Parts: sequence; C-alpha cells; structure tokens
Amino acid sequence: MNPADRRYRYPFTNCTNCGPRFTIIEDIPYDRPATTMKEFKMCPDCRKEYDDPGNRRFHAQPNACPVCGPRLELVDNYGRTVPTGDAIKKAATLLKAGKILAIKGLGGFQLACDATNPQAAQLLRDRKRRPAKPFAVMMATIDDILIHCRLSAAEEQLLMSPAAPIVLVGWDNKFSDITAGVAPGLNNLGVMLPYTPLHHLLLRETRLPLVMTSGNLSEEPIARDNEEALERLKDIADYFLRHNRDIRARYDDSVFVVENKKPVALRRARGYAPYPIHLPYTSKQILACGAELKNTFCLTRDDHAFISQHIGDMENTETLEHYENTLELYKKLFRIKPEIVACDLHPEYLPSKYAIEYAASHNLPLVKVQHHHAHIVSCMAENGIEEPVIGVAFDGAGYGTDGHIWGGEFLVADRQKYQRAGQLEYVPMPGGALAIKKTYRMALGYIYSLLGQNFPLEGLAFSKIPASELTIIKQQIAKGLNAPLTSSAGRLFDAVAAITGVCFEASYEAQAAIELEMRAPQRRTLNQSGRYPFTIDEKSGIKTVRLGKLMEAVIGDVRNNMPVAHISLKLHLTMAEIAVEMCREISRETGIKSIALSGGVFQNRLLLKLTSHKLKEAGFKVFTHHLAPCNDGGISLGQAVNANQARK
Ligand code: ZN
Ligand code: FE
Repeated sequence: MNPADRRYRYPFTNCTNCGPRFTIIEDIPYDRPATTMKEFKMCPDCRKEYDDPGNRRFHAQPNACPVCGPRLELVDNYGRTVPTGDAIKKAATLLKAGKILAIKGLGGFQLACDATNPQAAQLLRDRKRRPAKPFAVMMATIDDILIHCRLSAAEEQLLMSPAAPIVLVGWDNKFSDITAGVAPGLNNLGVMLPYTPLHHLLLRETRLPLVMTSGNLSEEPIARDNEEALERLKDIADYFLRHNRDIRARYDDSVFVVENKKPVALRRARGYAPYPIHLPYTSKQILACGAELKNTFCLTRDDHAFISQHIGDMENTETLEHYENTLELYKKLFRIKPEIVACDLHPEYLPSKYAIEYAASHNLPLVKVQHHHAHIVSCMAENGIEEPVIGVAFDGAGYGTDGHIWGGEFLVADRQKYQRAGQLEYVPMPGGALAIKKTYRMALGYIYSLLGQNFPLEGLAFSKIPASELTIIKQQIAKGLNAPLTSSAGRLFDAVAAITGVCFEASYEAQAAIELEMRAPQRRTLNQSGRYPFTIDEKSGIKTVRLGKLMEAVIGDVRNNMPVAHISLKLHLTMAEIAVEMCREISRETGIKSIALSGGVFQNRLLLKLTSHKLKEAGFKVFTHHLAPCNDGGISLGQAVNANQARK
C-alpha cells in the first residue's frame, strides 16, 4: 500500500509469515525448487532479502517482486488479453458494471460479482446452475462487514485470524443492501475478509461487497490451472483475472460458525488442512477414505491425524482425480505409507470402491466402518474421549447394517465397537433419492406409512401434486417398490418443511431443513416449552421413537394456521426432547453419562443448542464437534480412529 515501496500494489507480496505455502508445495523440504515458484528466478533485490537472516523475507520461499515474480493479467472468456494499464483497476470497473469475473485465488479460481447487484447475482446463479445455495461474500474490512451483519467479539476475532475463514454470521436482508439473492431465505451470511494481496487490492478498488464463490460448475472441484479454468468457466465468467504462479493443491475456502464463543468447523480447507488433529494415542499409519459427500480422507501417523482439505462430493471423475492427486501429495509430504485402509460400509460410495481397490493392490487389511459409528468416533477423537459414550447421530443418510438407510441413531459406542441402542422409526422414501430432492414425497412417506393411505390431505400444500404422481407414491409405499426405509433425522426435517409449505423441492443439500431452521425465532429459545407427542417402544433391545403422533400434530397445527415460526421451534424442541428421553433410558441401562453429538443435522445451530442445553440440564456431559466437521467431512477421522482400534 506504500507508494514509495518497490512492491507498491504488487499482488504477490509476502514474507516468511504470510503468503502461499500449502498450495504451491510439491515436496518437502519446503524449499523454492520444490514449489511452483521454481519458475521464477529472484532478481538481485529479492535475492538479497532472501539471503539476509535479519530480513523478514529471509528464506521466504515465494518471495517475489514486480521485476522477477508472477504477473497478473486480465483476459476475456476466449483467453484474449484485455489491454489495460492496470488489471486490478480494470477488473474493478468490470465488477462495478455487473460483470462476472473468474479470479485466480490461492487454491483455485473463484467466481466474483457485485453482491449488491441483484441481476449480477442472478446471472451467476443461472450460469453456475446453482439456483439457491448461498454464496459467500468478501468485504474489504471488518467495518464494512459490520455495516451489513451482526458480529460477536468471537466472530470478529475468527474473521480477522490469519486463516481468515468464511464465517456464517447474522444478517438481515432488510438492513443490508447485499441482495437477498446471495443467500435466499436465510438470515445468516457467509462472510470473509481479503486473505491475499490480490484480494486486498481488488476490494479496496471496488469498495463493494463481492460474491466470492468457488470457480466450478455446481459440484465439480474448484478450477486450478489457467487453461483448465478457461475451458471449464468460459460460459460462467465474462473475464478472467489470472496470473502465472501455478497452483499445486486445490484448496477451497474454509467455513466456520461460532458457537458458545468457540469456532466450529463446517468445512475445513484453506488455513486449516493439513494441520493435524492430535490423537490421544500412537496410531498405526492408516488411510481412511471418507464418505461420498463433502469428502475428506484422513491419514494417520504417530499421534497425528491429517484430515485432508475438503475434496468435495465424490460423484464424478474430476473429483476422484482431485482426491487421488491430493492423497499422493499428503503421502509424500508427511511420509506416510498406509498399513491399514478404512472405508464406509456403503459399497457404492466411490471412496469405498477406491479403498477396496487400494487395499487389494497394496495387499493391506481393509476395515469397513459403519457411517454413524464413524461420526460418533470422530467426535470422541477430537474431544480425546476413550470411555464409552451414548452417541446421538442425527444425520442425512448412512448405510446401515440391516440394509436400511440410517440417520437418526442412538449408539452405545466406544472407539472400537458400537451397539445400536435406539433409532427413529423407519419410514419409506418413495422414489428413493428423488424423495431427498422432492421433500413432499418424504412427507407423504411419513403420512401414508404412519397415518394410513386414507389420511386426508385437505388444507395442506399437497394439492399442487398431480394426481398421477400421488397414485405412484401410494403404490411405491404400499408395495415397497423403490421406497427404501430410512430412520433419518434429516428426512424428518424435510418432511415437516414440506408439510408447512416452507420448502417443497430442495435444490441443494439440506435446503429444506435449513429454511425450516431459519423460520424459527432466533432469540430466547432456550426457555421455550411446547413439544409434539412421541412414544418410545422397544423390540429386541432396540428402542424406537414412534413419530406418527408427531406428524399428526404438525399437520393439526398447519390446519389451525399456527405460524410456521412456532411449528419450527416446536419441532426443534421435540427433537431435543427425543434425544434427552432416549439418552435417559439408555443411560439407565448402561450407566453411561457422556453423550457425543454428531451427524450433519447438527449443523442446525438451533437444534445443537437446544439438544446440548437440555442434555446438560438432565445431568449429562455433552461433547460436540469443533475441529472436525459434524457433517460427512468428519467421517474420515472417525474411520481412521476406529480402524486403529479394530486392528490392534
Ligand atoms: Zn524481485
Ligand atoms: Fe453422515
């Protein structure tokens, strides 16, 4: 920022304490020839700094300046250079004019547009084929963020920390000119501060909050190389602000929330991975391949668990390639040669298939870990718990040992084994995966199977459904055709979101549940009472929570025009009560007083708050996630810890 400095407005300025590291490193030891900076020969001025032990740039591997270092360029979506005196000034002008820019950041390309411009945000949604999933917004300073969002001291501190993650903070579109289309239907916003010189320069030039989202088409991995980005993003971005410093490791932005003044990881990548999580024991060298969605893998060595950065949803070959590349890099950097391979029980998960092949070709033992056991063990591991716990796994979906889809589970578990002590009642998902997107199908799954096929639907939003589809749904349920059974807590939220008319069709994972959560009052929820009825019965040692009365009561409230806010809060309170009552009964039989909460549904902050509060009130010790995500991004850690115990 200093006009007198030889690096004035140079976007690749760094010192030993800042600048890129993990994204440019190709091997250890961390020396310039083993990084993507090897292409750039330092000029005499830079060399002098690099060689001088008294200089802040002594052995700063990415050291560079405008004479010798990487250069910025602006190109259009045909890759043609845009003639400009100053690429950043020109880029800012384009952003202000409503254009969409692909910007080469630290770990890949980001897509940026003016967050206060509704047309620009909508255009980005259309082109990226991302109709509703919220975008993150970058703002120049904390003061800028305070104009739009409410921040606690702890949130402010986290935003300003060196890792500079995205933090989900309170936001009310009524009091902010950031367009509602950035996070439709939500009352929180993912915000972050600039974390590279390039971002600082651009944000100071535009003086606008900028949407800053990963440069990819829907669920593909973030684009990394210049040519690749041009090819993959040319139909999304109007211009590309790029440079010639290569990125070795794709690295998304990390996402956090602050709960009880403490940071909680939802997505762990830039600034966090591969920093290891400490294990309370010495581990064998294990490769845990992780789950399918929000995938991470985990490698262990000594008392370290290296959870990879967020890889993404393992549903296409691009992501698999990213996975394999990243795994190779980790094995090299941390000198790990797996002795055991671990994976999910689900035979169709791409990472499970990878694990089976890897174990076979390397002649290694393979440990298959039940999905929700992995969730619970992951929570135990990061909290350093060795004794048995009651694990409450409220989740979307995971492969169960009985062939059904689990997701509302109460496990008596230690790191090595578990026993399924309880579950939410099984209901059919008419149409299978279709019922996850079309939440009304899930609602009908509950209604028809628990309340009967003749249950009247008058006064509910289901009149929109064509009669032919209703008939098919009824048949699927009655005959059990393409209607897998699930005990998922996530699906229960989906169903209530459909019955209340909050969300009939989800365009991104957990949309219905998130929107239902957002409708609940956000303040003074802890001392609220009121709950829906449920019963618990027991058969062959497994307690089952019956949900028919709950559904009937929800429908009654909708028919009585009870505000959605009340219904939503009542449902949250009920889920917390279900957890408390189940834990009480299981504790009475087992004597266990420690509860671990895990599973993606606990990203619901209201549910997490109510559940842990009520459990503590009931005298339990409650453990939750902070370091590893409670969603499937934390599965690999649980797998690795379980595999070490299982093969002792
Ligand atoms: Zn130089
Ligand atoms: Fe899960």
